Amino acid sequence: MLLKNKKILITGLANKYSIASGIAASMYREGAKLAFTYQNERLLKNLKPLAKEYGSDILIECDVASDESIEKAFKELSKKWNAFDGFVHSIGFAPSDQLEGNFVDVTTREGFKIAHDISSYSFTALAKASKPMLNDSSALLTLTYLGAVQTIPNYNVMGLAKASLEANTRFLAASMGSDNVRVNAISAGPIKTLAASGVKNFRKMLTQHSSRAPLGRTVTTEEVGNVAAFLCSDYASGITGEITYVDAGFNTAAMPLTEITDN
Ligand code: NAD
Repeated sequence: MLLKNKKILITGLANKYSIASGIAASMYREGAKLAFTYQNERLLKNLKPLAKEYGSDILIECDVASDESIEKAFKELSKKWNAFDGFVHSIGFAPSDQLEGNFVDVTTREGFKIAHDISSYSFTALAKASKPMLNDSSALLTLTYLGAVQTIPNYNVMGLAKASLEANTRFLAASMGSDNVRVNAISAGPIKTLAASGVKNFRKMLTQHSSRAPLGRTVTTEEVGNVAAFLCSDYASGITGEITYVDAGFNTAAMPLTEITDN
């Protein structure tokens, strides 16, 4: 079991389709004890039965848009765990009007600010809040997307926020390395979740992905979860500041085989 005796906090589990749900399943299977945060009361109903499935009854409200909510959440967590071994940041958001149309036309100052605040700064904020409670050999993990390094239609300002998140991963890794805390990101291929449905024509992105990826398909939340479990385990003790792609190879193929072969 990769994560025996590890206590991991998981954020961003909105429903069974969430990437965080696949991560929780893998981590639970690998022996981790889990705690969960949820954005607001409305999401608690979905989370409760899933958390139970993953052996946890530690459910704490945490809206990362608010410093007060983060502070309260970690105070709450400290009543259950006096120390823990890392967290998964599986949170992203941009207003829907930012994720539809031509980048330069639709991006606003407010949309830009919100996307970066919720999707990138929150990773730093959670690292800051966790720091006093983290054990030696802890690991922090976030979820990013190819839009950080290449343009993708309609992904727009989220691409910029993910670029910030990837830099954030490297800066946090440098900042926390002396405490033996590792910080990594998984760049997941497109998966149909609540957040993903906010990107216009997301379905078409899934089809494109399958037709161009070397493995000829998309990935599952379980596949992302398995890599997450590895990266948060001591087997990954030499890996920090890295972006690991779990995307069926899509980012490695400039031109799909099918487009230049005759049959
Ligand atoms: P999801 O909708 O299941 O999860 C997004 C989560 O973010 C939700 O649980 C939501 O409650 C949370 N969230 C949003 N604003 C918040 C706030 N203010 N405070 C606390 N939580 C907040 O979708 P998902 O696809 O599982 O997204 C998880 C992460 O994976 C995101 O960072 C997303 O960008 C990233 N990602 C998704 C894909 C994909 O195709 N689905 C691909 C690569 C990366």
